[in-house]
Amino acid sequence: MPATTAPFGLLLDVDGPIASPETRTIAIDSIVDDLLTLALAGVPVAFVTGRSDAFMREQVVSRLIEGGMRDAALFGVFEKGGAWAPITAAGLGEVEVDPSVALPTEARAEVEAIAREQYGHAMFVDEGKRVMVSLEQLVSVSPEEYRAAQTAFEEAAFSALAERGVGIRYRDRSVPDAAGAVPYRIDPTIISTDIESVRLDKDHGAARAIDWFAGRGITAPRWYSVGDSRSDYLMADHVHAVGLEAVHVDVRPSDGVLQRPYPVEVRGSLVHDAAGADFLRERVAALAA
Ligand SMILES: [Mg+2]
Repeated sequence: MPATTAPFGLLLDVDGPIASPETRTIAIDSIVDDLLTLALAGVPVAFVTGRSDAFMREQVVSRLIEGGMRDAALFGVFEKGGAWAPITAAGLGEVEVDPSVALPTEARAEVEAIAREQYGHAMFVDEGKRVMVSLEQLVSVSPEEYRAAQTAFEEAAFSALAERGVGIRYRDRSVPDAAGAVPYRIDPTIISTDIESVRLDKDHGAARAIDWFAGRGITAPRWYSVGDSRSDYLMADHVHAVGLEAVHVDVRPSDGVLQRPYPVEVRGSLVHDAAGADFLRERVAALAA
C-alpha cells in the first residue's frame, strides 16, 4: 500500500460529539455526510469510545453504510482501547481484543451476577463488552434510585473482587493482588459503572488508532481530537507526546476547559453533537480550501 500523508486526522469520542447524549444515536444527519466526505477524501478517521463494538455497529457504522460508505481510512477503538476493528464498506471488520486488559473470566461472572441478582431493578449488564464490565442505569429508574443502587453495587463488587484476590481500586480505596499490584478499577459515571483495567483509557485508544493507520502507510502531521469529557483530552495528550501536532475540541466546556500545551478549542456557544457537527463541517470546508 503506498504511503499517504493526509492534511490531518480525526480522533472522535462518540457519545457527546457524534451521538446525541439524549438519544444515544446520531441525531444530526450532516454528521454522517461530513464523516463520509472526510474519510473518502483520505482523512484518517478514528472513533475512540468506551462503548462496545456492538454499539458502534448499530449506532454509527450502520448509518455510514446507509450514507454510501466505501472503503476508506476508518477505524474504531472500543472499550477505551481494549478492542478495535477497521470500518469498511462491508461494515465493521473483524474485532480484535487485547486479552491482557480483560477482567478475569470468573471475576467478571461474579460481579455481573451481583448486578443481575441484587441490583437488576436499577441497572443492566452491557452484554456487548469484551474486556470491561459495564453496568448501565435502566432508563426506567430515577437518578436518585439509580445512585443508591449504584453505590451499593459498587461496594459489593469491590468486596467480592478484593476477596477473590483481584487487585482493585475504588474511589480512594485499593486492595492489591498477591503480587502487590492493582491492575483494575471501579469507575463510576453518572449513568453507569465500569469495572476495567487501569491501562484502558483514551490515550491508549488514540495510540491504537494512530499506530493502526501508520501500519497501513497513512499518516497525518496534525490530529484533531473531539470529546465531551475530561478523559477525552488524553487523546490529544498522546498526539502531543509522540511529537505530532495536537488540537483538542471540547464540546462540553462547562466542565472547565483544561490548560494544555496544545490548542484547545470550543465551538462558540454550541455543545454536544451540535458542536461536533459544526466542527466536522469546518473540517470539510478546510479540505476544499
Ligand atoms: Mg463522550
